[in-house]
Amino acid sequence: MERRKIVAGNWKMNMTPAKAVELIATLRPLVESSDVDVVFCVPAIDIVPALTATRGTNIEIGAQNMYFEESGAYTGEISPEMLEGAGVKYVILGHSERREYFHETDEELNKKVKKAFEHGLTPILCCGETLQQREMGITLDWIKLQIKSDLAGVPSSDVANMVIAYEPIWAIGTGKTATTEQAQEVCKAIRDCIADIYNDSTAQSVRIQYGGSVNAGNASQLFAQPDIDGGLVGGASLKPEFGKIVNCK
Ligand code: PEP
Repeated sequence: MERRKIVAGNWKMNMTPAKAVELIATLRPLVESSDVDVVFCVPAIDIVPALTATRGTNIEIGAQNMYFEESGAYTGEISPEMLEGAGVKYVILGHSERREYFHETDEELNKKVKKAFEHGLTPILCCGETLQQREMGITLDWIKLQIKSDLAGVPSSDVANMVIAYEPIWAIGTGKTATTEQAQEVCKAIRDCIADIYNDSTAQSVRIQYGGSVNAGNASQLFAQPDIDGGLVGGASLKPEFGKIVNCK
């Protein structure tokens, strides 16, 4: 099955609203003729100006997080209904920075994944191992555990349409990229895990990204792997280099 590639930029906690609009003006011509899905996952305060600045283009806007309740006394959180109402299409869930610094658990992520689908949002669900886990040889077991916990009770029709990002924690923001073999091995294991939990057609349909120090030099080799359907890009998504990553062949 031919899966359409998807390259998403994770802007993390960078860019004021004014700078976000400027960056979009820079990146827009560099990504507009691409034949992959392009997503900018921007900070919450930049969502509305980013949506305005990308209207009529091929760029979709994503959030970097959301809460699993609809509304109410959850100071500082942003709800799925708010994202849907604004016109957001994607939401990163379970980024390792959120798991580590904000103690997000798989149980919460499972609720978030379900809520995202209720509101027509496509989750980009992140998973990944620490360097210690890799060195202990438990990478694949750990990733499968994360996937199974985060997707518990999520129907196959939703999983088929979601995005899973494999991001080895030791490769995020470190300049240390996983080798293409390492990245392909884990992305294949994720697809096999989806086939085990659901079925082959769901596994063939779900899009799996690699993330972790993707740049213009390594993207084409990574994205050419049979089970890698694009990338989740941090640092390089804030630079014109992102255009090269999106258009790499
Ligand atoms: C990320 O933030 O998801 C990421 C992969 O960052 P970087 O590309 O900077 O390693």
